[in-house]
Amino acid sequence: MSLQPAIVWFRNDLRLMDNPAVAYAVSSGRPIIAVYVHDPKGPLATGAAAKWWLHHSLVSIGAGLTAIGGELTLLSGNCVETVERLASDTKAGAVYWNRRYAAAQIDADKRLKTSLKKAGCEVQTFNGNLLREPWEVETKTGGYYRVFTPFWRSLQHGGPARVETYTSPSKLNAYSAVASESLTEWGLLPSDPDWASEFPTHWSPGEAGAAKRLASFLSGPANTYGEERNRPDLACTSRLSPHLAFGEISPLQIWNTTRSAIASGAVDAAEGDKFLSEIAWREFSYNLLYHFPDIAAAPMKREFEAFPWRQSPGDLAAWRRGRTGIPIVDAGMRELWRTGWMHNRVRMIVASFLCKNLLIDWRDGERWFWDTLVDADAANNAASWQWVAGSGADAAPYFRIFNPVTQGEKFDPEGVYVRRFIPEIAGLPAKYIHKPWSAPNDVLQKAGVSLGETYPRPIVSLAETRKRALDAYDVIRGRIQ
Ligand code: FAD
Repeated sequence: MSLQPAIVWFRNDLRLMDNPAVAYAVSSGRPIIAVYVHDPKGPLATGAAAKWWLHHSLVSIGAGLTAIGGELTLLSGNCVETVERLASDTKAGAVYWNRRYAAAQIDADKRLKTSLKKAGCEVQTFNGNLLREPWEVETKTGGYYRVFTPFWRSLQHGGPARVETYTSPSKLNAYSAVASESLTEWGLLPSDPDWASEFPTHWSPGEAGAAKRLASFLSGPANTYGEERNRPDLACTSRLSPHLAFGEISPLQIWNTTRSAIASGAVDAAEGDKFLSEIAWREFSYNLLYHFPDIAAAPMKREFEAFPWRQSPGDLAAWRRGRTGIPIVDAGMRELWRTGWMHNRVRMIVASFLCKNLLIDWRDGERWFWDTLVDADAANNAASWQWVAGSGADAAPYFRIFNPVTQGEKFDPEGVYVRRFIPEIAGLPAKYIHKPWSAPNDVLQKAGVSLGETYPRPIVSLAETRKRALDAYDVIRGRIQ
């Protein structure tokens, strides 16, 4: 008797290597229906820049499946209803997927699992995207970690839940009687204007691009990562974040490959560990997302509900467009717009400027990042915004306010990064590049800079807004535990 088909529901795990749901489906011997469901009206709908990535990532996984005898079926609609219908139409005997961790996604997956099981369908779910499930990492008293360092120690001590990665299947038995929608018709790519035109020079979405990125990082920048990871003028970080956000590489692949590189002496142990500790920050964010499902909407420190945020559409627009007159902030916001990504140090600087100097609610920043980052990630984005705003678990205290000029001078000492993204002030000497307003008139003139015309004057005084932020913080300070 022939086996009923199995559906493998791809979500943010667009890879064949180390994909537990795929590996299980192949070992089941069932004919496989590989499906991706586009649910633009669902919760956590993909942001604009991430849609560009998604398009190319689907092309890549589709080609990967075809190469081994499979095919990718594209369907759109409410994801629960679509998978239910697909299972019923194809008389599927099983549905397999890798787990997700946002509350709305967990809820959808639970509802689907219940209805499929009721209909007599086997359902198996797997951990494909984390080193350890959030419920597997517990403090000694049985709670969840709210502080990173002990979380990291526990992960170092216990290691990943799985030791070996799954290999990529070399052959797939496809069930091919399902009609697919057209990716082009989904309209994921921007047009008129094509604001993503520069993206392809920076990124290669897909599993092969992810593996190449990891290999080139480990064979070079990894050895100076600890020191240079804070320098936006140097290309010293891995830039794996969008690949991780779409699951084109698993954290276990990164963990094991980095550990091997350390063991062989190719990567210095301290530097490699520092890199893995950043992978652990991602795990920590997922741990927070799971245990604090409201993380994108509500401050983890509830006292921050009473924080007197300002409404200023004008300031928010200047921030978004990279027109605040503070060079390192503007360079970051323009890097984001042009490339879909921003260096971590600069993310911290622009976020601090928004929440503290402009006193604008971190949720406005979180939403803008969600729409403009190719690596937009429900856990990392919300947890990081709360960290900078001071309202998160293990957050930087609110009163620690970054001075963007000092930050720029420290981490972009020659102004290479600022010049790359703000050509209108590129002619300024390094001494003034992070504070053009302090340059003498003849220096400005020589560099072709006319403040207020070719480049904005600062929209706020850094000293005054620092004081204003501390006063605002005093409103809630007494309530912080
Ligand atoms: P590397 O330094 O090479 O680090 C390797 C990996 O570790 C990253 O790809 C990422 O998965 C993880 N990682 C590194 N730093 C952090 C961190 N601070 N928190 C959590 N995980 C981390 N990261 C996202 O992936 N998506 C987001 O939407 C996102 N939003 C952010 C918003 C703000 C306000 C801030 C301050 C940070 C945000 N981050 C986000 C975290 C961090 O900036 C990026 O992960 C990092 O810049 C990605 O570059 P990389 O891959 O070269 O990092």
